[in-house]
Amino acid sequence: NPPGNEILTANFIKIMLEREGIPAVIYESVSGRGNLIARIAGNGTRKPLMMLSHMDVVAANPNQWRFDPFAGIVAEDYIWGRGALDMKGMLAMELMTLILYKRSGQVPDRELILVAAADEEVGGIYGIHWLMEQDIPSLTAVEYIINEGGTGFLQNQMPVYTCQNAEKGLLWVKLSLSGTPGHASMPAKDNAIVQMNRIISRIGRHREPLTLCETSRGFLSQMAVQHGVKLPTRPANLDYSLKMFASRHFNKERSIQGMLYNTISPTILQAGMKTNVLPEQCELTLDCRLVPGETPEHFLEQLRNLINDSKVTMEVIQSAAPTESPVDTELFRTMRQIAHQENSGGDVVPYLSTLATDSRYFRQKGITSYGFIPILISEAELQKMHGIDERISLANLETGTRILYQVIERISHN
Ligand SMILES: [Zn+2]
Repeated sequence: NPPGNEILTANFIKIMLEREGIPAVIYESVSGRGNLIARIAGNGTRKPLMMLSHMDVVAANPNQWRFDPFAGIVAEDYIWGRGALDMKGMLAMELMTLILYKRSGQVPDRELILVAAADEEVGGIYGIHWLMEQDIPSLTAVEYIINEGGTGFLQNQMPVYTCQNAEKGLLWVKLSLSGTPGHASMPAKDNAIVQMNRIISRIGRHREPLTLCETSRGFLSQMAVQHGVKLPTRPANLDYSLKMFASRHFNKERSIQGMLYNTISPTILQAGMKTNVLPEQCELTLDCRLVPGETPEHFLEQLRNLINDSKVTMEVIQSAAPTESPVDTELFRTMRQIAHQENSGGDVVPYLSTLATDSRYFRQKGITSYGFIPILISEAELQKMHGIDERISLANLETGTRILYQVIERISHN
C-alpha cells in the first residue's frame, strides 16, 4: 500500500468463510479497496466482540529478500513474506479462530465479528475511517476489540505477552526563524542558522519528567511484582515507587522509555541555498509523541515556553491525541488467565505503544481496544516488520491461534 488492492485478499477470505457457512460481506470504499466483515451471531446476552486486522502491507524490494516477499514461501519452519507479522499472520489466526468456533457448533453470548480492513498502513482513510462512516450494524456497538499492536517475548524463559491498550499521541511542528538575507561576506547579526542553533541546544538539553498513565502504572506494577518488589498501596507513594523502579530497571530500554516520557525529536533542518548567501530562513521540524493524559494543545504551549523566543513562528503540521483503553477489564483478565493456563509462568502486561494503529478510531468512541498478537518473537524478528525477510514461525501461528481461540471462547460464554 500503495496501491493496496486489498480486494484480492478480501475475495480469497470470503470464499474460505462461505465454505464454512460463515456469511461475509465486502465493502469497497473505492474500486479495489475491499474491507471484509464476517459474523457469527450470538444470543445477545452481551455486546459483540470484534477481531480486527488489516490486509494491506508496506512495500518490499524482492532483491533484498531471501525469498519472494509476495509468494508466502514456507521454509525452515517459517512462512516468509511481507505482512507475515504486520499483520496477515494475525489475520490468519483470527480467521482460523472464527472458523474453529463455527465448527464447534456453539452459540456465543455475544456476536463475534471479524473485520479485515484496507489501508491501515497509510492512515485508514479507505479502511476503518471510511467503514465507521457507513451504516454497518454493530460496528461501533462492540464491547471489545482485539487488534494488532502487542506481541510477546520470553523473560527468564517465561512468555510475557504485551497487550497494547494505549497509543501515544503525536504533534508535528515546524519552527521557522528569519534572518536578513545578503552577501555572506558581510554577515548580519541575525543569521537564521545561528539563531536556530540556540533553539536546538535548548531542546537538546531539555529533559521531560517521567509521566505515568493507567497503562504504564499497570505495566510497571506487574513488572515490579515479577522482580519481587513490594509496592505501597497509597496512590501517591505507589507512583513514587513505580518511578524509582522504572528508572532503576528500564533506563536503557528505548521501547519502555517511550511509555514513560513525552518526547521531542528534531527530525528535519533546512536552511540556505548557496555558500555565499546569508539564509533568509531556517526551519526545524519536530516530531513529538505524547503519553495519555497529555493533549497536543497543552504540549504546544509547553513547547512555546521551552523555546521562549518570540521571533520563532510555530506551525502545527499534524496532531493526534493519545488514546487509552482501561486496563482492568474482563477481557484483560481473561487474556492473563489463558496465558497462565498455556504456561504457568506466562503473563500479559499492559503496553503503551509509540505508534498508531486502527484501534485509535475505536478508542476515540470509548470502545476498549487491545493490540494482542499472541506470538513470541525476539527483538531481531520484530525488527523485520516493515523490514527485510519478514516472517512468522509455524509454531507461533499454531500457539497463537490456540491462545486466541481460548480467549474468544472464554469471553463469549458465561
Ligand atoms: Zn499493522
